[in-house]
Amino acid sequence: MQPSEFTPQPGSLYVVATPIGNLRDIGLRALDVLRGVDLVAAEDTRVTQGLLAAYGIRKPLAALHEHNETQVTPRLIDALRSGQRIALVSDAGTPGVSDPGAYLVRAVREAGLPLIPVPGPSALTTALSVAGLASPQWLFHGFLPARAQARRQALEELADLPFHLVFYEAPHRVLESVADMVTVLGKHRTLTLARELTKRYEQVVTLPLDEAAAWLAADPNRLRGEFVLIVSGAQRSGLPDTTAARKVLVTLLQELPASQAARLAARLTGIQRGLLYEWALAMKAEHQGDG
Ligand code: SAM
Repeated sequence: MQPSEFTPQPGSLYVVATPIGNLRDIGLRALDVLRGVDLVAAEDTRVTQGLLAAYGIRKPLAALHEHNETQVTPRLIDALRSGQRIALVSDAGTPGVSDPGAYLVRAVREAGLPLIPVPGPSALTTALSVAGLASPQWLFHGFLPARAQARRQALEELADLPFHLVFYEAPHRVLESVADMVTVLGKHRTLTLARELTKRYEQVVTLPLDEAAAWLAADPNRLRGEFVLIVSGAQRSGLPDTTAARKVLVTLLQELPASQAARLAARLTGIQRGLLYEWALAMKAEHQGDG
């Protein structure tokens, strides 16, 4: 039996996932919606125009991106109230996943208007589907900050988590990010690098984190395109040498407050920062007791 065509309902916002590279990845329901709506709200109207043209669809488009969403959203809410059917799309993948959309979605929900997801591609799920992760728990971080200091701080906050960490990254920053990952997360991790997914030069490799920079630099083509990076999580078990770690901590505590000493010791030893902080506090208390 053929599934029947889907008809968008008046006054509804459809949040529609679109391909992340290969245009054949568009869903049948996504096409039904794009054909049936009165208006398409798009992150970049030129990009969406290309997608619609590929499927012979002509629709009025309205730009909706992070710089104008607060101005455009009230007009879209009015249009929905008057019965128009609207599709929200981003340049690629699922709106709201490191892409605009959340502001409009919240406004539609607050207005009590119908809000319907039309699922489909996302670089996140596409990369995870071929990463073959050994454990099923992962944390999606999206883009790291562009500035080095903020990026390292963001990584430090993730360093102790025992889950795979999933990042989006732009080609011109991938080398810096990978270098910071080695420094902050420690080299005893693996990295799955998924680039150009669903496109001609698609590539998915898993390698030790501290070999990734050399792998990327070995061929200029490897630095092109769009990237999803998946780093294995912090070790849960007490495999590291805790005696050596305690020695490091004692030395650092002579110069630094407990929190800073714990952070540095975590970087040097690979032991969880929270645990080192507890030890540091205990050592300080012991020391005060001596005095
Ligand atoms: N909303 C999109 C989604 O659902 O995946 C993500 C949009 S975000 C602005 C763009 C980032 O997603 C890129 O910088 C890259 O990290 C990742 N990405 C998008 N398409 C990709 C692809 N074909 N291969 C690998 N990563 C991709």
